[in-house]
Amino acid sequence: MSAILAVRIGMKKSIRCPVCKKSGDWFATAYGPFCSRGCKLIDLGKWLNEEHLISDPLRAEHLESFADLPPGRHLDEPEKDDNS
Ligand SMILES: [Zn+2]
Repeated sequence: MSAILAVRIGMKKSIRCPVCKKSGDWFATAYGPFCSRGCKLIDLGKWLNEEHLISDPLRAEHLESFADLPPGRHLDEPEKDDNS
């Protein structure tokens, strides 16, 4: 079996850190999908800043919308922030 095929069917768990794009088996770490505690905090900080800019302080409802995302799936897709 080729390495590429192994990745496609999920045998290899290597993913890219959403913050620094470094590849590795980050889901196996305590900070998954981030490669490190630092990257996790960076991403959380960005996220919270955006929430504050858009509307009001963080509430439980904001987090619930994230709980419905399929695990890991959204990380493989490009962000769709622009409406092109
Ligand atoms: Zn990272």
